[in-house]
Amino acid sequence: MDQSHFPCQGRERPEGCHTCRPRRCLLKGCERLFWPRRPQARYCSASCQQAARRWRRWQASQRYRGTQQGQEQRRQQSRRYRVRRRERQAASADASSSRDGQRPALPSEDFSTRCCARPGCYQLFSVQHEHSCQRFCSGACRLALRRVLDREARYRARRRRQRRPHLTRPCHCPDTS
Ligand SMILES: [Zn+2]
Ligand SMILES: [Zn+2]
Repeated sequence: MDQSHFPCQGRERPEGCHTCRPRRCLLKGCERLFWPRRPQARYCSASCQQAARRWRRWQASQRYRGTQQGQEQRRQQSRRYRVRRRERQAASADASSSRDGQRPALPSEDFSTRCCARPGCYQLFSVQHEHSCQRFCSGACRLALRRVLDREARYRARRRRQRRPHLTRPCHCPDTS
């Protein structure tokens, strides 16, 4: 169905390909080399593109946990948890003496769990504080997406220059030919 890619068979550059080097599939777990037919292609195949779409839906559902509604839900969960804990502690008074004043980390209150921003990566990781700007589970994931975003930025800049050559490269030199 989608013809935005060539499988990378050998190092030969196929006709109609936009780059002089094969590209690496962005999807985590694939990372195959391919020759892109479209200049902005990120994935080696239609199935990787679909996998990336599935991952984006999963990521959106994870992000929901961070919304107001999700937070309210978690507050209720932890309230229920604390009530249950008090009941348990009342039942065994001696067990509570050593842990008094210590709040155990509740998984349901865990604001700090995030999902990796690289397509295809389902790795959750935790951050030190709520306003941390960490977006990736690992340096490898960060670099993989960085490479693609840089390439796409370069491509867009090139396109802009091509579209408006008189704006970006004013030529004041006299024609001496
Ligand atoms: Zn792939
Ligand atoms: Zn990752």
